[in-house]
Amino acid sequence: MKTFDIQKIRADFPILKREVNNKPLVYLDNGATTQKPKAVIDAIVDYYTAMNSNVHRGVHYLSQISTDAFEVARRKVQGFINAEHEHEVIVTKGTTESINIVASCYGRAFIGEGDEIIISAMEHHSNIVPWQMLCDEKGCKLRVIPMNDAGELDIEAYKALFSERTKLVSFTYVSNALGTINPVREMIAIAHEHQVPVLIDGAQAVQHIAVDVQELDVDFFVFSGHKMYGPTGVGILYGKESLLNAMPPYQGGGDMIKEVTFEKTTYNELPFKFEAGTPNIEAGICLTAAIDYIEEIGLDAIKAYEDELLAYATDELAKVEGVRFIGTASHKSSVISFIVDGIHPYDIGVILDKLGIAVRTGHHCAQPVMDRFGIPGTVRASLAMYNTTEDIDNLVQGLKRAVQMLK
Ligand SMILES: *Cc1c(COP(=O)(O)O)cnc(C)c1O
Repeated sequence: MKTFDIQKIRADFPILKREVNNKPLVYLDNGATTQKPKAVIDAIVDYYTAMNSNVHRGVHYLSQISTDAFEVARRKVQGFINAEHEHEVIVTKGTTESINIVASCYGRAFIGEGDEIIISAMEHHSNIVPWQMLCDEKGCKLRVIPMNDAGELDIEAYKALFSERTKLVSFTYVSNALGTINPVREMIAIAHEHQVPVLIDGAQAVQHIAVDVQELDVDFFVFSGHKMYGPTGVGILYGKESLLNAMPPYQGGGDMIKEVTFEKTTYNELPFKFEAGTPNIEAGICLTAAIDYIEEIGLDAIKAYEDELLAYATDELAKVEGVRFIGTASHKSSVISFIVDGIHPYDIGVILDKLGIAVRTGHHCAQPVMDRFGIPGTVRASLAMYNTTEDIDNLVQGLKRAVQMLK
């Protein structure tokens, strides 16, 4: 394993030097979005300084170098998740759009009235609502894998949900609200025993855990650039070639066509069939810098460091009176959701903010998870590779102050 130099890593993220409310920033909202290293910021500036031009269109020099850089990023993503083919990597706006593409296109072609889609009780709204919209349109049904009080999915109940009518399974690798790491390999294998394809929401996974889509044998895998130290406005839909080829296109427009007449249009090949219109070029290109950054440090080293930090944070927060953790799975990623007896999470968030500490409060786009635990929301500290034990100490001190003030 490579050495993990936390001071050097922190120095790579310019925003970590700033103050908020006259206090040094303590950024613990990485589940919502991560900060960007200088390498990514520089790549964005370089793009506009030296390269800006539309992709897949021009014969001229700038268009060719920006197209090349965009396609380099696609191959970078291919390597990052070990996809078999680069054309299985579709560039989207983000996780939300990637899931909507599958719901819309796979759903339109292969899911009909009376069919069933399995999701889990811990999904982000973006992995619930697109399926509900499809169900409204097609008359299909959602089946939901339940979870226990620790926030772990009930695998026996999952097995029992399959029927002749099951057409797709879609669930998250890591819960953004609870931190649970689901047994994806086992769950994919179970679906495949029933010949049902699986979509994995990797939005909270790829920045913490090395993912190999071929080894997982996953059918669709989606994630966002902005949660893995990359730019906003870009995400990935990985799909197996055979499935993507069988699906109708998503939006109609430029780039996704081969030939257009008023009588008939023929569609472009993968990946362009699903990439209508001008993409977020600079964000797509700058994914390369984000992945290079992660790979240079190494996901094994990042995971080991974050696991230590998670253990420390859990121990320290447990010492604060009245703290109750929501999400105590035995396999957890660096997300700590908690409530404090008798105090609204929002009020804690406001006081922490006054102290320069950024956490998220509320339902974290996972309202059914909050309903499952019978609470309106939680305070969530979500850790990234640049956080430190000092950040945790600041959080704990701030929380103690908040509790004192609000009790
Ligand atoms: C953030 C998140 C999403 C949605 O990602 P966007 O980048 O907002 O499209 C989906 N699922 C999970 C688990 C997330 O954390």
